[in-house]
Amino acid sequence: MTPVPFLDLGAAYRELQSEVDAAVARVLASGWYLLGPEVRAFEAEFAAYCGAEHCVALGSGLDAITLSLRGLDIGPGDEVVVPSHTFIATWLGVAATGATPVPVEPDPGTLNLDPARLAAAITPRTRAVMPVHLYGQPADLDAIAEAAGDVPVIEDAAQAHGAHHRAERIGSRYAAAFSFYPGKNLGALGDGGALVTNDAELAERVRLLRNYGSRVKYQHEVKGTNSRLDELQAAVLRVKLSRLDEWNARRRTIAARYLAELSDVDGLVLPEVPAWADPVWHLFVVRTPHRDRLRDLLDTAGVGTLSHYPVAAHRAPAFADAGWPAGSLPLAERAAAEVLSLPMGPHLTDDQVTTVIAAVRAAMAEIGGRAAA
Ligand SMILES: *Cc1c(COP(=O)(O)O)cnc(C)c1O
Repeated sequence: MTPVPFLDLGAAYRELQSEVDAAVARVLASGWYLLGPEVRAFEAEFAAYCGAEHCVALGSGLDAITLSLRGLDIGPGDEVVVPSHTFIATWLGVAATGATPVPVEPDPGTLNLDPARLAAAITPRTRAVMPVHLYGQPADLDAIAEAAGDVPVIEDAAQAHGAHHRAERIGSRYAAAFSFYPGKNLGALGDGGALVTNDAELAERVRLLRNYGSRVKYQHEVKGTNSRLDELQAAVLRVKLSRLDEWNARRRTIAARYLAELSDVDGLVLPEVPAWADPVWHLFVVRTPHRDRLRDLLDTAGVGTLSHYPVAAHRAPAFADAGWPAGSLPLAERAAAEVLSLPMGPHLTDDQVTTVIAAVRAAMAEIGGRAAA
């Protein structure tokens, strides 16, 4: 069998090579490399794509999280509710402001923040709730907003470019932080991120923060930072944005095959998609208590996989001081032990998908045979 890599980022470049090369050449020749016409155009195009009024392009997705919270004056002494099962950047973005991440366990079916558990996590210090649309699956925003009450909901949309919650595009509500890390559904050729929001004041505050707290050169109104998407990345992202819907559609087709052709595999838990959700399948994540064995068998069969994420955020040494010992967030810990991401991306061929499905079926049969023996 020809090996199937977990992800081939070069394929996206090969498809778009002439357009990307032209965009890069245009920026190089322009002599303008930061906060120029490409960033302004990308901000307008991505805001329109999301159905939001404002987009502020930033240096990374982590910065988009941190600066949107700082834009609301959230800092030491404040609490921000986050999912217990997420990429650690959600927690780190909160911690970077000096605020405390307060975890809520996931819904066992979708692995997204469980709205039924949210009210119990809200205290007088809660200044924001940050759901994550993990794996490109929209979180239950209606139920989350209801439980959050007056507390603003800032979405970590780093994995959900183009996803829909009912008829709404992710990013069209109050505020959402996006990442353009190369492997994301909309990925740059380096780091990048953005805040998308309908709050003009928040957008303006984050614009200040990203550029040394300055609107006019050498006039510094607040203690800002340096977090600017550069013109090269913006020009490349404009090319890729034009393909995002097509590429997300291809991801949906692949996910539909995985869901249909793996549904009868004993011992394998497939992602659950609520009727109101239209996910964009940033990742296709299966679960089994025999995760490590499945990973090894797939590796031997030449199928690349990864775990997102193998260590729960509260169990990372980085959060050893946060007071969440082993066993304190059992659903997140179990997810970390059981999740495995199958190859997924717009450039995966039908034959590669067939190979992955056959390899997963064979591996699970072998694991099941052993468990029974
Ligand atoms: C990628 C990601 C981030 C961080 O984005 P960067 O651009 O890598 O800083 C934050 N949250 C989630 C859920 C992510 O997947």
